[in-house]
Amino acid sequence: MNTVTLPAELRQRIGEARRQNYSVGFVPTMGYLHSGHLRLVQQAGEENDLVVVSIYVNPTQFGPQEDFARYPRDLDTDRRLAEEAGVGLLFLPDTATIYPAGPDGQQVWIDPGAMAQCLCGASRPGHFRGVATVVAKLFHLVQPDRAYFGAKDGQQATIITRMVADLAFPIEIRVAPTVREKDGLALSSRNVYLTPDQRHEAVALSQVLNLAKAYLTAGGRNARELEKVARDHLTRAAPLGRIDYVTAVDLVTLQPAPDEIDRDIMLALAVYFGRTRLIDNRVVRFTPSGLEFQ
Ligand code: AMP
Repeated sequence: MNTVTLPAELRQRIGEARRQNYSVGFVPTMGYLHSGHLRLVQQAGEENDLVVVSIYVNPTQFGPQEDFARYPRDLDTDRRLAEEAGVGLLFLPDTATIYPAGPDGQQVWIDPGAMAQCLCGASRPGHFRGVATVVAKLFHLVQPDRAYFGAKDGQQATIITRMVADLAFPIEIRVAPTVREKDGLALSSRNVYLTPDQRHEAVALSQVLNLAKAYLTAGGRNARELEKVARDHLTRAAPLGRIDYVTAVDLVTLQPAPDEIDRDIMLALAVYFGRTRLIDNRVVRFTPSGLEFQ
């Protein structure tokens, strides 16, 4: 595995790969790698000749009261895990590369519009502007054929997919399934913040997704009732948690699903345990052969 920091080194390595006609798969991360990230790396390796992973904790996607400074970091372990997973090129840009004028000096942003203002965007103003902007920069630097995102961050995956379509990036976005702990909790770098009691209750998030599947499979189609089923379960099973949102949204626009669900939706939820905010979601598609749950 090669490790690069500067754009010129990156260009050189990518250029070598291109001269050998290698396809390039890219996995952007903020590090503190876990099996969820490695699932993306694995898929990228199956579909491309060279896998590039970036690690960059992007300051502009954190609000002033959020955990940028204390976001978990462990570069030595990340390097080892990346190497073992078959990453060919590890890109560790510094802030001078990503924000030449400094994070506060950035003038031109990518604004994902209404898709960025709902769900996580409502409680994290500016978050998806920061995400879309840094991902666009990384795409320009790496110039991959395909880029890999986790379904766990469903709003992010939808926004990036839309950005690539709306701005004509020549990149295919691939969304990989959420990797979970044995009890169902979605893996997240932030799970390390949870106390044992919070960790115990956090399983309620994935239980809600199973209840949603049961509700829809039994023929339920009322979006507001579905949200109530989900909310009631969280209130009962996770009294230490504080619900940020539980919303059934149109999968394409991310706006609230109509009362009578008649299209592909995502049931998305976010719950605070102390200052730690956990998210999860379930995508439900209407296919000719019936409902498909992801
Ligand atoms: P992060 O380092 O948290 O920015 O995540 C980097 C990428 O890994 C994003 O595309 C995430 O959606 C994805 N990811 C994070 N956790 C998981 C998970 N449990 N399963 C699948 N993908 C994940």
